[in-house]
Amino acid sequence: MNNRQLFLSNLAQTTDFPLLIEIEKADGIYMYGPKGEKYLDLISGIGVSNVGHRHPKVIAAIQEQLDKYMHLMVYGEYVQSPQTQLAKTLTDTLPKKLNNVYLVNSGSEAVEGALKLAKRYTGRREVISCVNAYHGSSHGALSVGGNEIFKRAYRPLLPGIRHVDFNQLDQLDLITEETAAIIVETVQGEAGIRIGSKDYFQALRQRCDETGALLILDEIQAGFGRTGKFWAFEHYGIVPDIVVCAKGMGGGMPIGAFIASQSIMEVFKNNPLLGHITTFGGHPVSCVAALATIDVLKNEQLIKQVESKANLFKEYLKHPKIKGIRNKGLMMAVEFESFEVLKPIIDKAIELGIITDWFLFCEDSMRIAPPLTITEEEIKKACGVILKSIEEN
Ligand code: PMP
Repeated sequence: MNNRQLFLSNLAQTTDFPLLIEIEKADGIYMYGPKGEKYLDLISGIGVSNVGHRHPKVIAAIQEQLDKYMHLMVYGEYVQSPQTQLAKTLTDTLPKKLNNVYLVNSGSEAVEGALKLAKRYTGRREVISCVNAYHGSSHGALSVGGNEIFKRAYRPLLPGIRHVDFNQLDQLDLITEETAAIIVETVQGEAGIRIGSKDYFQALRQRCDETGALLILDEIQAGFGRTGKFWAFEHYGIVPDIVVCAKGMGGGMPIGAFIASQSIMEVFKNNPLLGHITTFGGHPVSCVAALATIDVLKNEQLIKQVESKANLFKEYLKHPKIKGIRNKGLMMAVEFESFEVLKPIIDKAIELGIITDWFLFCEDSMRIAPPLTITEEEIKKACGVILKSIEEN
């Protein structure tokens, strides 16, 4: 078995629908195959490469840190300036109340930490989440996931989880004084980009205030500029009790965080009732990559351009086979009749050098979430190829 066959068979075991493209190098918004194939990346590794692949500032920060140290000790034991600086820089992007950062490795781990924190702080056990939510793949994160098909094989999962429909104001009464937390994506990603109203998020905040339940907002896919604000919850005029983030945070390096107020995070300091322990969480190399990523997002004015770039996609992507486009900034879903109509279009676009994808819980819609660095010219070109792929099917 040669390398390529091995690669393909490994991938084929992990998913029914692998894209099966071998990538040798990636730079900016482009990825390159071993035979010089060039692909324009319209999905950013699912909302990870917001500043593009291998941004020079991210690479330089990583190289500089590699000359100092990599892992030293379990997170929080030593004072390491990449971690403390990142905590400070992150809190500067957030409302004052959210001033304590706990760094972890991934989105799922951030969700685990947030759920544990909410249980400890409130002393309550019940957690509410939304139908069709995706919060990660570990047992706790899967338990608050909102798609039964993905959970079935792993029961029993966490007890005390109840689900409400996303964006349904009349179901908020389910949040009661028994509820430790409700966890909600600020924009539902894997459900196919479902957007809640400002009224909904404000009512959520109010109901949590009335009952003492904590509001956990999952910004893992929507955060770090993707929707046209640094944090997607800024669109709704509310402040959550806990924010979870990951993905775009590290500019391509693995890192995540759950962030809360000092008074909430304080409960984790109460030894011997251990809080959350993580060996690699807040890895210094990932921290400096995150610091450089935030710097790029701010200094290259990338977030300000998101809305107009998204509008360009919407302007160009007009075709009778396109049923509609749902988006919050550059988090977009282009809807088709069915997966059977969409899949050959995706395959054709890849053949023509444009990488798109679909969603875990929504197979009739094309995922478009390019690096925020994409130019107007590149958007025009990518949309041209998508339209050609539709025409040729
Ligand atoms: N929450 C959301 C909204 C996500 O999109 C994801 C990843 N797709 C996760 C949580 C889990 O993140 P990770 O894969 O880093 O564990």
